[in-house]
Amino acid sequence: MSSVRLFRSLARPAALRLPRQAVITPHVRHHSQKHPQGFEPPSEADLSELRERVQEFTRREITEEVAAHTDKSNSFPNDMWAKLGEAGFLGITADEEVGGLGMGYQAHCVVLEELSRASGSIGLSYAAHSQLCVNQIQLNGTAEQKKKYLPGLIAGTSVGALAMSESGAGSDVVSMRTTATKVDGGYVINGSKMWITNGPDADVIVVYAKTEPDKGSKGMTAFLVETKTDGFSCQRKLDKMGMRGSNTGELSFDGVFVPEANVLGRVNGGVRVLMEGLDLERLVLSAGPLGLMQAALDVALPFTHQRKQFGAPIAHNQLVQGRLADMYTKLQASRSYTYATAREVDEEGVIRTQDCAGAILYAAERATECALDCIQLLGGMGYVEEMPASRLLRDAKLYEIGAGTSEIRRMVIGRAFNKEYAHMSR
Ligand SMILES: Cc1cc2nc3c(=O)[nH]c(=O)nc-3n(C[C@H](O)[C@H](O)[C@H](O)COP(=O)(O)OP(=O)(O)OC[C@H]3O[C@@H](n4cnc5c(N)ncnc54)[C@H](O)[C@@H]3O)c2cc1C
Repeated sequence: MSSVRLFRSLARPAALRLPRQAVITPHVRHHSQKHPQGFEPPSEADLSELRERVQEFTRREITEEVAAHTDKSNSFPNDMWAKLGEAGFLGITADEEVGGLGMGYQAHCVVLEELSRASGSIGLSYAAHSQLCVNQIQLNGTAEQKKKYLPGLIAGTSVGALAMSESGAGSDVVSMRTTATKVDGGYVINGSKMWITNGPDADVIVVYAKTEPDKGSKGMTAFLVETKTDGFSCQRKLDKMGMRGSNTGELSFDGVFVPEANVLGRVNGGVRVLMEGLDLERLVLSAGPLGLMQAALDVALPFTHQRKQFGAPIAHNQLVQGRLADMYTKLQASRSYTYATAREVDEEGVIRTQDCAGAILYAAERATECALDCIQLLGGMGYVEEMPASRLLRDAKLYEIGAGTSEIRRMVIGRAFNKEYAHMSR
């Protein structure tokens, strides 16, 4: 049994659960389709215990040397998967039957925030595995698919990814050109995918392809593809400005046979799998920039209190205090938005598209600003690679692009309002 699961069962005596829920959610909780059966939202105490467990893990396994080396070498420390699995972190939202912890989305945000605080790129690869792949299988997989793929993914003995984007279809992902043609016993996939996190290392990938290209969004299906299948290859690993060491690949599918049993969700129902997955993906990924903002403060606060100019610590200068205050309030505001949105999913089973997009939109832009502030506060030391400040900036920028750009997130929020107010224009 993993240490986290052990602590969880010890920390939550059954007698303590009911009164707390009665106080926090006095109204009837909706049955959630997004959690394992019998899911109970974690208490604040559960979440802070979990946070401490992740911090213990990062202090031991993702030291500043590991984070710097991952960035410089642009290569993921592959032994990390088994360590993350052993700690119980790879199946936070998954069913206990397949090795998960069934702790929900607040808990998943806690783990991603703390991993990203230690290393943005390890955090990103973690999220692609545990949210984009594991959670999509948890939500959409058949009992057989879950039994076949989740135990290995959750133990960290196999690596997961999700492939949606193509070089010609990023923001307009529904215009993808990869096809899956029906053949005896399954489908044959042809096409390519671009910018796929964990693509170079993955064993199992959730792949979206057009099963009926003429039907647009209604002709798309999700598949579980094993990368050992003939015709699959990772064409190249991308050389990125940031998130270096979170291995990103361009993937090629040249007549890849996928058995019928590996259709994820309904045939031609891929757009529902994709869009619902995107809401929760944006919500959980919004914890990545939280970790990066905390990391920027972890660097800037001690530095500005140690560094003296004009005979006093620079933090005694009001202009410096103002910048630190801005960093801190941006982090706390972003943190509140992410966890309030995740709490609504966990406690009420309600997923508000505009808040999932809003949480990552807000946190991502604030993280880039905080990383820039961190560089400025460090002066010359902010501009050299001996300190992590420039890595934080390079890593933070990704969150304004991946999982839908800031522009697309603003459009998603606007469209959600249009839907809510449609009746007024009738
Ligand atoms: C490091 C990294 C990891 C990634 N990981 C994954 C992954 O694991 N799986 C996966 O499937 N994808 C992944 N992606 C892909 C990512 O989701 C896309 O890059 C993103 O959706 C943007 O698509 P694009 O790059 O084609 O940009 P484009 O869509 O070409 O956009 C270019 C610019 O135009 C703007 N734009 C586009 N349309 C509009 C519009 N209608 N209105 C206003 N502005 C618009 C965009 O906001 C952007 O500023 C990853 C990307 C990166 C960089």
